[in-house]
Amino acid sequence: MKFQPRASHFIDGEYVEDTNGAAIEVIYPATGEVIARLHSATPAIVEQALNSAKNAQAAWAALSGTERGRILRRASDIMRERNYDLSVLETHDTGKPIQETTVADATSGADALEYFGGLAASLTGEHIPLGGGDFVYTIREALGVCVGIGAWNYPTQIACWKGAPALACGNTMVFKPSETTPLSALKVAEILVEAGAPKGVYNVIQGYGDVGASLVTDPRVAKVSLTGSVPTGRKVYAAAADGMKHVTMELGGKSPMIVFDDADIENAVSGAILGNFYSSGQVCSNGTRVFVQKGIKEAFLKRLSERLDHAKIGDPMDENVSFGPMVSENQMNIALGYIEKGKAEGARLVYGGERIERDGYFVQPTVFADVTDNMTIAREEIFGPVMSVLDFETEEEVMARANDTEFGLAAGVFTNDLTRAHRIVAGFEAGTCYINTYNLAPVEAPFGGSKMSGVGRENSKLAINHFSEMKTVYVSMNDVEAPY
Ligand code: NDP
Repeated sequence: MKFQPRASHFIDGEYVEDTNGAAIEVIYPATGEVIARLHSATPAIVEQALNSAKNAQAAWAALSGTERGRILRRASDIMRERNYDLSVLETHDTGKPIQETTVADATSGADALEYFGGLAASLTGEHIPLGGGDFVYTIREALGVCVGIGAWNYPTQIACWKGAPALACGNTMVFKPSETTPLSALKVAEILVEAGAPKGVYNVIQGYGDVGASLVTDPRVAKVSLTGSVPTGRKVYAAAADGMKHVTMELGGKSPMIVFDDADIENAVSGAILGNFYSSGQVCSNGTRVFVQKGIKEAFLKRLSERLDHAKIGDPMDENVSFGPMVSENQMNIALGYIEKGKAEGARLVYGGERIERDGYFVQPTVFADVTDNMTIAREEIFGPVMSVLDFETEEEVMARANDTEFGLAAGVFTNDLTRAHRIVAGFEAGTCYINTYNLAPVEAPFGGSKMSGVGRENSKLAINHFSEMKTVYVSMNDVEAPY
């Protein structure tokens, strides 16, 4: 098998296997063919990985930030050099078109390694002068062993978005990818070692949710960073709380995108396409509730349908293909189930709505209009290529409806009215907001959710605070005065 890794896990700088673990079959979503066979981590493998990360941590943290940063930046360069091969692997792991994976996966991972590699040397505490000559200084310290748990939609990116800031701060990591897409994190681990990371600094173990759960509760672990659904987030957050561990939770969403009648329609349609159909709709920050002001509704829907006719659906390895399969049969069935619910609850199907008759797990890009706020497709995260278009009349009305959700990951507005745009984003209850664009997530900007969509932020300088803590040192320059 062409994509079979040397072994299932990467621990202490080497590939490691334990065939006693439950079987994991890796399936190419475009054909249904098995492309690799792996094993879930046994308790012995979990033990080995945590020991390795624990043993490596003090020496890694003792290197200068410059030295750690150099290794991360070298890894970034290697990832860029191998971008095409890594993208082919990612396409086979996820089914996403090569047109996407060559620009959004290893490249985004490399951006994180480069950015946090660059920051590593400048991570410091501060000096705080006090009265009478006393002062405090703070020491920025690593947390220790961090656990990363990933979803299946951006496996390379998630492995790096968690690994890069963790390592920059002097932590070590045990990363568990989703068992649906286990391959690319192994490559990230290999590349880090090749770039000079000492063994044990970044380990990857495979497994189902039970492996993730055993990592989260282990006393050696200081921090858990999860990308996944809200139900999983709730469980992981609760388990981490028991050990008072730090957490970052990057969870799901049902984000609003508001299109006012003064918006540039072409841009708004482009934003809605990117925010609903990129990666076949399997993006957490997608703007799946598209509120369109009544005056331009029909024009918007007409242009959207015309543009969707140009989606090139097919073999994701074909560079002209812009829309691929869903990640798995299970995820396809979830999306098809929601499409049936949309039809049954009375939404108007204006585009797509069916499975595509070919091998693999393809679902047509699907648009429902006349969706109302209480329909299931407007309330629950679908994580598939299903857009709901809702009508609105006034700004006040749409603001309240946009925020009427338990989620708060992202939100967007399309309008040419400058003050309205800023008023709207000020009112959004969401972690990441867009004005006249959608779904961009550069490493320089904080990314994460409010409300049920998560806790903490990834990327940007803020991520450093989530992977380090401050030690306060009070220095007295005076005699100690005690009352007796
Ligand atoms: P899941 O929540 O099903 O799984 C996420 C990860 O957690 C997987 O690796 C899973 O392992 C693991 N896991 C499951 N149960 C436990 C447990 N009890 N303890 C520890 N780990 C566990 O999400 P999906 O993989 O289905 O991904 C889709 C979800 O991820 C969507 O809701 C999406 O919105 C969200 N997401 C959020 C992003 C963000 O940045 N906010 C980005 C991308 C996705 P296994 O798969 O083996 O069960």
